Amino acid sequence: MKYQQVYEPRHPLAHPKAGTLFVHRRNLYDHIGEGIHQCNWCGALLTWDGVAYPKLCVDHLYNDTTDNDPDHLVASCHSCNVRRAPHWKGKLSTTDRRVARHFLSQGKACAWIANLLGVSRSTIQKIKSNRSYQRDLIS
Ligand SMILES: [Zn+2]
Repeated sequence: MKYQQVYEPRHPLAHPKAGTLFVHRRNLYDHIGEGIHQCNWCGALLTWDGVAYPKLCVDHLYNDTTDNDPDHLVASCHSCNVRRAPHWKGKLSTTDRRVARHFLSQGKACAWIANLLGVSRSTIQKIKSNRSYQRDLIS
């Protein structure tokens, strides 16, 4: 799926020559503003221009690249964004497993977490029944 673009030459994120930018980047920028932000998944510090800190990627929470509602977009570092890409369907990276355990410990439903990470519910249920998850709860 192609990302939607807009022509807004005066936007801070617009391409200096073409004057265009991606809708998802514009929407999240307008929502959270300039400055240093944290990766939603690992907490790494990020900036929009990638100068002082690594470049902020805009992650589609529900893996739908046409859904540019700012509430469905989060800041992400490059490696977390790549790990969450839809080609991971069915498999969970270490980071995703950590994310899943985090939300399980907060009492979120397996279906909700599965939707967030783009995997089947049984994948999350497996983590839930796993001992390492229960160990995380104690520590
Ligand atoms: Zn990250």
